[in-house]
Amino acid sequence: MIILVDMDNTLADFDAAFLSLWQKTYPDEFFIPLDKRRGFHLAEDYPDHLLDKIQKICDGKNFVKNLPPISGGIEAVRELLDAGHDVRFCSSHFREYKNCITEKYQWIEKHFGKEAVDRIIMTRDKTLVRGDLLIDDKPKISGLATPTWEHILYDRPHNRQITDKRRLAWDNWRDIIFA
Ligand SMILES: [Mg+2]
Repeated sequence: MIILVDMDNTLADFDAAFLSLWQKTYPDEFFIPLDKRRGFHLAEDYPDHLLDKIQKICDGKNFVKNLPPISGGIEAVRELLDAGHDVRFCSSHFREYKNCITEKYQWIEKHFGKEAVDRIIMTRDKTLVRGDLLIDDKPKISGLATPTWEHILYDRPHNRQITDKRRLAWDNWRDIIFA
């Protein structure tokens, strides 16, 4: 199988890293606890007057590079590769791409080794990428093409309202992928 795996909030804990840096940088500022996140983008949950500050944190140097892995994800991808599946890291760059693109490559190299960098597919339109499965926390993935893949939702607090897709977390992935 060709299995496309998203990075932010699927393999890398973007939300946890953001919140921790946010609270360190602005200890007295409003914040939303991780389990109360409801929108896919932070901008949907936070008030407008904070959005510039939020953007600055996410686009900052070393933010993406230092994202902590979500527990079990690295091991799951390794196991899928060992089993002969073709796993590709299918990720979208931020609009402010300068740090983000390089650091996403560094993140993959750090956690999977140099050769795994060849498995990165960076795109803003995942419907144009062929595959059997796409594991991604984004509730709705749209684009130019009709996808060849089945979208399996990576379970996060922000997407719990979606009920029409299979849902996976790194502690139950075998049951879902091989169901
Ligand atoms: Mg994501």
